[in-house]
Amino acid sequence: MRMMTRFLKTSFVDTFLALSVVLSLPQFLHAQAAVPAAKLSAHWEELTASDFREGIHRSQGTCLLPFGILEKHGPHLPLGTDLLDVRYAALHAADQEYAVVFPEYYFGQIAEAKHEPGTIAYSRTLQLALLQETTDEMARNGCKKVLIVNGHGGNDSLLPFFAQTQLDKPHDYVVYVFDERTPREGGPAKKTKIDMHAGESETSKMMVSRPDTVHLDRATNESGADQARQKIPPDVYTGIWWYTRFPNHYSGDGSVATKELGEFQMKWWIDSVVKAIRAVKADDVSLKLQNEFYEKSTHPLDTQP
Ligand SMILES: [Zn+2]
Repeated sequence: MRMMTRFLKTSFVDTFLALSVVLSLPQFLHAQAAVPAAKLSAHWEELTASDFREGIHRSQGTCLLPFGILEKHGPHLPLGTDLLDVRYAALHAADQEYAVVFPEYYFGQIAEAKHEPGTIAYSRTLQLALLQETTDEMARNGCKKVLIVNGHGGNDSLLPFFAQTQLDKPHDYVVYVFDERTPREGGPAKKTKIDMHAGESETSKMMVSRPDTVHLDRATNESGADQARQKIPPDVYTGIWWYTRFPNHYSGDGSVATKELGEFQMKWWIDSVVKAIRAVKADDVSLKLQNEFYEKSTHPLDTQP
């Protein structure tokens, strides 16, 4: 009843307003069509300063740092394979779930390929210092959640170590690491067993991201077979292990790669990054507990009951 009274009271105003909206609708639609809402780029370097601020707002402070490398990739793939692939996956993921994507970054761990042409291997001190200053600068610009999307297998010790050492001293942001590139199962049947570097999977993905840079006819010019020259137990680690097994910096056989396998794997990679972005955006625990931890770590004796 009360609703009815209110309806009667306001019905004249409502009718007037509705009428004016209908009358002005064609004009309104025309104006919308003439000035379409600009699509905000996910590329950090393509945004204007004010669009960058909008991007940080839209991404809820979530930024991606796709991490590549410059190293030999067998006889048939380009030096920047990991950089090209990881940026393809990260940028397509950001298309589905908006995040600001940092420009080309390839300053990682690749000492094991220094004997091959085109490798850029920075010292370990510089790798850590540059990565810290990069994420610090990203955070200073509003990226309070930095998701490192790793495209290079040789970074698999560096990145968890970097994330662990964020506890050294307080930071007002969280570093997340996503380090998966290849699904363990599903999709077109694979033809090779050893497939770690420039092999069937990686070559297939490049046939999707940058087919113009793949020289499939050269993939058998060198051997990517495991030479198994080191005779120590597998649970004893050395830095030279990779060279003892794959001295050509090639592991597997890229010649059997297919676009179909590449499409399956790349879609899986993109979907996985989308899931990671969504999880990071939803995470309201890590920063809170990180701050609690930093505070407690200034007076450890008090944390004992
Ligand atoms: Zn690679």
